[in-house]
Amino acid sequence: MKETYIVGNWKLNPVTQHEAVTLARAVAREAAKRKLAEGVHIVLCPPLPYLAEVAKAASRLELGAQDVFYQEAGAYTGAVSAAMVADLGCQYVIVGHSERRRIFGDTNETVNKKLKAVLKSGMRPILAIGEERRDSFDERGTFTGELDPALKDQLVEALAGISAAKVSTMIIAYEPVWAIGTGHAAKPDDVLSVRIFIKKILRGLYSTSVANNVPVLYGGSTDSKNAGSFLQEADVNGLLVGGASLKAGEFAKMAEVASRLLAA
Ligand code: PEP
Repeated sequence: MKETYIVGNWKLNPVTQHEAVTLARAVAREAAKRKLAEGVHIVLCPPLPYLAEVAKAASRLELGAQDVFYQEAGAYTGAVSAAMVADLGCQYVIVGHSERRRIFGDTNETVNKKLKAVLKSGMRPILAIGEERRDSFDERGTFTGELDPALKDQLVEALAGISAAKVSTMIIAYEPVWAIGTGHAAKPDDVLSVRIFIKKILRGLYSTSVANNVPVLYGGSTDSKNAGSFLQEADVNGLLVGGASLKAGEFAKMAEVASRLLAA
């Protein structure tokens, strides 16, 4: 069965648990109204303190964490482990989001450790990779055919020491940093080129079947208007959504677009 993942990364929003529960309930209600095709996964990734209540408020939807620390226990003030969020009902964890890399200092090495911790706890990591600058595109925004080498490094170094069986349970999200929260999404054709590039790397590191099994998502200024073009023209298996995931109707509409394409 084909699967599509519509993942909402709420980041540091909303500012109270009450609002988080209200938002989760609204997404669940809007999604239920739309009678989505089987195979459409709606994943909510609220801030860590809201996980338990959001899990209760939207029990028909899936739950993810935005990050975890890689150690299991010990003297790590402020840290939250993979096992802790799994215990709260998380099935997914976003790892390596560009905001974690830029603001909190995550490196390919720590991303690798986090992936291993998430996998050990039986959850599916959503590994986010993406180039900082739009160097791969000329002044007219057309793909030059030369992808930023950072993209390959982020993928290869993140996956070091991870078995084919484990990688097959992962999801990879291509999120060009320049497209996140800017209102300037990448072009579907270019996302398709990166998707092919990611699959090629996975084929080289593992096998064709691993490359075929790992879903690739796109993230960066997506909404209900452009969702269809990424899912269709870029052939991605879903979307990692920031801003639009905070609007229940809009986010559910994106899932509806995914559902229609899946059922077609
Ligand atoms: C993100 O931060 O993962 C993201 C894709 O944000 P936005 O949809 O707001 O660009």
